Amino acid sequence: MRDVKAAVCREFGAPLAIETVTLPDPGFGEVLVEIEAVAICHSDITFIDGGWGGDLPAIYGHEAVGRVAEVGVGVRDLAPGARVLVTLIRSCGACPSCAGGRPTQCATPGAGAQPRSGEATVVAAMNCGAFAEAVVVDQSQLAPVPDDIPAAAACILSCGVVTGLGAVVNTAKVRPGDWCVVIGAGGVGLNAIQAARLSGAARVVAVDISDEKLDAARDFGATDTVLAGSDGRAAMLDLGRLADHVFVTVGAGPVIDGALDWLAPHGTAYLVGMPHSGTVGHFDPVSASYFGQGLRGTRMGDVVLRRDIPWLLDLHAQGRLMLEELVSETFPLDRINDAIAATRAGQGRRNVVVL
Ligand SMILES: [Zn+2]
Ligand SMILES: [Zn+2]
Repeated sequence: MRDVKAAVCREFGAPLAIETVTLPDPGFGEVLVEIEAVAICHSDITFIDGGWGGDLPAIYGHEAVGRVAEVGVGVRDLAPGARVLVTLIRSCGACPSCAGGRPTQCATPGAGAQPRSGEATVVAAMNCGAFAEAVVVDQSQLAPVPDDIPAAAACILSCGVVTGLGAVVNTAKVRPGDWCVVIGAGGVGLNAIQAARLSGAARVVAVDISDEKLDAARDFGATDTVLAGSDGRAAMLDLGRLADHVFVTVGAGPVIDGALDWLAPHGTAYLVGMPHSGTVGHFDPVSASYFGQGLRGTRMGDVVLRRDIPWLLDLHAQGRLMLEELVSETFPLDRINDAIAATRAGQGRRNVVVL
C-alpha cells in the first residue's frame, strides 16, 4: 500500500479537493504507475458535473503517462522503470469483443481494488483515477512509450489523440480523396483533423464557434474552415460537394442534431464526443433512409493500444503527428481546478497537470 496525493471529487459540480489516499498493492496482472502528467478531458468534466452519475467520492483522470514502480504477479512484459501511457481501456483479451479486435468494447473488463481514504473507498473512476501521484491499473490499460517524448505531450495520446484519430482511421476508415467535416476543433477534433490529413482526405473542413480554434485547425491540416452556426449543407455546396464523413467531436445535442446536414448520400456521421446521459437527438429518419446515410458512434477511436500506439509514436518521431502543439498550458496538481476551469471555458487544446 502507498499513500499518494490525489484530486478527489466529493460533490458533483464542486472543486476537487487535494487529499491523501491509500492505493492498494497491485494485484494479479496489475501495475502501480507513478504519474508524470495527466490531461484534462471533457469526459472528466462531465463526470465532475454529475452528467454520467457514478459513486462518490471519486478520482477522475484517464489521459496519463508515467513510470512503472511496482508490478503484480502475472504482468507479462512491463517491469519497474518502464515508461507507459495510462488509459481507461481495461480489457480481458478473451471476450468476443476483445478477440474480435475491439477491446474498447470489452464485455468483461473486471474491476480492480480501489483506493481508500481512512476506512472509506474512493472510486478510481473509469478504471483509472489518474488525477493522482500514482495509480494501480490493469496491464491491459498500458502501452510503452519512449523516454524522450515530453510527458505533457505524451499523455494526450492516451485519450484525445486516439479518440479523434481512431475515429477517422479505425472507425470510418477514411480513404484518399474523401471529404471530411470535423465539428469542434478542440483536443479531440484537432486529432480527427490531422488523421484526415494523414489519410489523404481531399478536403478537411473544420467547424467551430471560435476563429482562434479554426486557425489552429488549419495548422493541423484543415483545408477549409466554417464558423459553427452556419448552414452545413450550404457551406459544403459552396466548397464543392457534401461530405463523405462527418465527425462530431463535441457532446452538445443541437450540434449532433445538425450532423446530417453536412453529409452526402451514402455518407456517415460519427458521434465522437459524448453528451450528458439523457440527451435526446432529433433527426429526420426519412432523409437518412432516402439518402442511405449512416449515423454511428465510436468510443475511444476503436483503438487497440498495442497495435496503434507504436505506429503513432513512430509518426510523431518522423514529425508527421503533432503532439506538443496540442498542449496549451500546464499546471501543478494543486492547481488542477484552474486547469479544469480553463478547459471548461473552452480555452486552448489540452490543459495538462504535470506532477
Ligand atoms: Zn478522455
Ligand atoms: Zn474483453
